[in-house]
Amino acid sequence: MIAADDLIALVRNYNPKTNEALIRAAFAYGEAMHDGQTRQSGDPYFTHPVAVAAILTEQQLDDATIVTALLHDTIEDTKSTYLEISERFGEEVAMLVDGVTKLTNLQLSSTETKQAENFRKLFMAMSKDLRVILVKLADRLHNMRTIKAMREEKQLQKARETMDIYAPLAGRMGMQWMREELEDLAFRVINPEARVSIIRRFITLQREAGDVIPRITNDMRHELDAVGIEAEVFGRAKKPYSIWRKMQEKELSFSRLSDIYGFRIITRSEMDCYRALGTIHRRWRAVPGRFKDYVSQPKSNGYRSIHTTVSGRDGKRVEVQIRTRQMHEVAETGVAAHWSYRDGVRAQNPFAVDPAKWIASLTEQFTAEEDHDEFLEAVKLEMYSDQVFCFTPKGEVVKLPKGATPLDFGYAIHTRIGSACVGAKVDGIRVPLWTRLKNGQSVQIITADGQTPQATWLDIAKTGKAKSAIRRSLREARKGRFVKLGREIARSAFEHVGKKASDKVLEKAAKTLRLADGEALLARLGSAEISARDVVAAVYPDLSPRPHSEVDTARAVIGLAHDQAFSRADCCQPLPGERIVGIVRRGQGVIVHAIDCPNLVEVEDEPDRWLDIQWAEGRHPAVYDVTLDLTIGNDAGVLGRICTLIGERKANISNLQFRDRKPDFYRLDINLELSDAEHMHSVISALEAESDVAQVERKRDTDRIDQARTAAE
Ligand code: MN
Repeated sequence: MIAADDLIALVRNYNPKTNEALIRAAFAYGEAMHDGQTRQSGDPYFTHPVAVAAILTEQQLDDATIVTALLHDTIEDTKSTYLEISERFGEEVAMLVDGVTKLTNLQLSSTETKQAENFRKLFMAMSKDLRVILVKLADRLHNMRTIKAMREEKQLQKARETMDIYAPLAGRMGMQWMREELEDLAFRVINPEARVSIIRRFITLQREAGDVIPRITNDMRHELDAVGIEAEVFGRAKKPYSIWRKMQEKELSFSRLSDIYGFRIITRSEMDCYRALGTIHRRWRAVPGRFKDYVSQPKSNGYRSIHTTVSGRDGKRVEVQIRTRQMHEVAETGVAAHWSYRDGVRAQNPFAVDPAKWIASLTEQFTAEEDHDEFLEAVKLEMYSDQVFCFTPKGEVVKLPKGATPLDFGYAIHTRIGSACVGAKVDGIRVPLWTRLKNGQSVQIITADGQTPQATWLDIAKTGKAKSAIRRSLREARKGRFVKLGREIARSAFEHVGKKASDKVLEKAAKTLRLADGEALLARLGSAEISARDVVAAVYPDLSPRPHSEVDTARAVIGLAHDQAFSRADCCQPLPGERIVGIVRRGQGVIVHAIDCPNLVEVEDEPDRWLDIQWAEGRHPAVYDVTLDLTIGNDAGVLGRICTLIGERKANISNLQFRDRKPDFYRLDINLELSDAEHMHSVISALEAESDVAQVERKRDTDRIDQARTAAE
């Protein structure tokens, strides 16, 4: 095991001003905490955190990151706590260790490759500080380096996870060497045969053509020397996994795969990058379409380099990357370069990207075509703050908007599960349905047969999917109630004329009234869209009872003196069919309020002004103004359809006023002239049945309390 002194020496190499006491204390504390624990290999457990810390010294990271590496498994695997770490090593370290612990606790499902992208997003979303990911990546790297000690089945699972999640994550953060090593370690486990066969091909190739790498390297050095460019040239065979992936992608055999060698030219200045490029292109033929200039157009993670592919006389292609030393450092360490230390201070590499600004700057920087995906990714990243990722008991990730509740989670899995929801457990603990879910929580929905969506759920659900499913289901339940009610009304109406409301009779009535079927007829009858009289008349035109004559508007209210004028209160807009009360106005006249109007409080202690009145029996003309508060989708034509719908129900629109126009919806007040409460309900249920109508409410305006007060006086 690396001793504390050795680790400190590694840090001191790049950071002479390191807080030695802090690292020593973390070392001693971690060692004591993990005392007695062993790894699968039989080594003392603490060898692992130390190795992880050592990996991070290669990236020249700050003290907090090194200390975090030493402690990264303490909260999870020992009796240590957040509080204790915070007291001993400070809030920053405690926060970082806690972040690593949270990532460790995520149950990654190895079988779900298609979920990998979600996991990567989850990682980003959960890590307030990218150093958490750097430690987690180093942790995984060490575990992969020592994977042979694991059970075979476990090896495969870890390798897949590494290939699906950790290696691409390292790549995204611009850490090329990390990505390549993780891929190679995972490839060894996942497909050892393929890896070995590629390595064998290399050996054969070398035997046939000799070692081409030193030859080409020397050629390049010679060319650069000749024009006076000072530069280092390195060559290498590409990693087996990257060759294998290319073979898969391009469906090429190894022998037809051309650029299996890569060369790097590290120059002294940016200017020399371009001079070197010119030199290389003059000497070898450039392969069309393979030239990319990431020096003038850097990638968002700070990557700068000139890429080109050239071919020699034998037609063999080689890839060449040209960059300065500083660019090279950023190309290898990616966003980690931001934390790199040299001589006790942050190494000021001008190309290092501040991870915090990384995402934001992406939106401006991207122009190159191949950055497009990355750009989209970044845009999505920015939106992660509006999202939470939760797990099913089986470990699948469910993506939800921020503020989502277990109800949304249930509906996201399946409408059936959402609809039958009676409760939920989050991380094994029973929680109320309105609980807001957090990143990484595991959610279990408890269902019961016979449960149906409740109206109150509309306030609990956050997602459109859940809301619309709940609304649909409520609408259906309501329709069921109307059908039942309609059947009752039909039964008594037909009995009244000495007939029976059999299914056959109802079908006939439906046909005459141009309705789909008997059930549709009953639903409309129940919701008062059609009257019992019309239904009976549709089958027995001669038997139908005489319609009531229309109520005279002047005598619409019973209980007034014959010369007493009345008017309806604006605040509650009472309709025939609703219970009312009259309030005598000072001076003259009576204001008719709904019995439940909140403004009646104003005249509570003046009993002599209250009049016991009621609406006249019979059919009232459609003259009573009612305001509906409507929220509708802003599709073209919705408004037209709504007006038609209202017209079909013989209601007159007297006024229409927009209150809010959002890109997705409009909110408006519609004033209707209606005959009674039944009429209003028929209009409301027709509107509710329209799919573009999100919400209909009768507007009882307590804002009008001032008007009501004047009315009441
Ligand atoms: Mn670990």
